[in-house]
Amino acid sequence: MLSVYSDDNRLHDPEQYIARGVLIPARESPERATELLAALRDGGHQVVAPRDFGRATLLGVHAPGYVDFLATAYQRWQALPDPKGPMALAQTYAMRQMKTCPTSFEGQLGFYLSGNSVPIGRESWRSILASANCALEAAEAVREGAAESYALCRPPGHHAYADLAGGYCYLNNTALAAQHLRGRFARVAVLDVDVHHGNGTQGIFWQRGDVFVVNLHADPNHAYPWQIGYAGEVGEGDGAGATLNLPLPIGTGDAAYLEALDHALQALRRFDPDALVVSLGLDAFEDDSSRLMRITTPGFAAIGARIGAVRLPTTIIQEGGYAVDALRRNLGSFLTGFLSTRTH
Ligand SMILES: [Zn+2]
Repeated sequence: MLSVYSDDNRLHDPEQYIARGVLIPARESPERATELLAALRDGGHQVVAPRDFGRATLLGVHAPGYVDFLATAYQRWQALPDPKGPMALAQTYAMRQMKTCPTSFEGQLGFYLSGNSVPIGRESWRSILASANCALEAAEAVREGAAESYALCRPPGHHAYADLAGGYCYLNNTALAAQHLRGRFARVAVLDVDVHHGNGTQGIFWQRGDVFVVNLHADPNHAYPWQIGYAGEVGEGDGAGATLNLPLPIGTGDAAYLEALDHALQALRRFDPDALVVSLGLDAFEDDSSRLMRITTPGFAAIGARIGAVRLPTTIIQEGGYAVDALRRNLGSFLTGFLSTRTH
């Protein structure tokens, strides 16, 4: 399978993260990319570097002010008086009642970044941009006629909205890929199997009827992103009915997951899409630090096989997965399963 990867994906390197009030090492680490790349080599997949698709392509799903903020945040952070930390972080965050984007940099930090999981360091923008370009290059291959492609995106993207970073995500790689595929295909479906709800992707396509977004994820009553991802959310306006959420109980294992996936794929087929984007998180794994689900390594092959059997032109976008030692075998398992049902 054509796979896309950039060494720049490894540059973004946050050191710390606050979880339940405790300062812990960052979970979304450069080592993740190393392990995922090893899986691609194991499988004999062709690995290519992305070209730069340019700012105008990013604006297909992101707000201009937000892209400019991400691109310049580190330089503006450096210009602030000391003392300050090594990476740009907000002091306070915009809440529901606060809707004005300030002109000041410190005000914009809390407007565009939604938590302490999205710091911006010296090399972050290079990684963020490379990750987005990997997604676009993979989508371009399918747009040009490839049956399938995989993008090794790091940092991940599915929690990023049109103008808001969150949950380790800055630019929404999946949404960019889906929008790019719309350049050839009239109807595109997004299937998000990351253990966390893809709130950013849902937000970006919320009012659109041309992109169907279906999410299987841990019940947000007990998992990030907490305030969104519930079954009653179905889209609005032209997008009414084009959003489907299937929150699953904490501790869901292979059998129950596959049953829910079958339900998701039935709904997806009813939408009758021309192409598919898969948001592939591997954090539903039984040993993932998220501790939300109990999918096994063979379980990922079964998930991949069912998705492959849909037989749509498909771009797979890497999202989460934090059991670093298991990423190599779990990605390998998913891709082997996926390809087993393609029969070109
Ligand atoms: Zn996740």
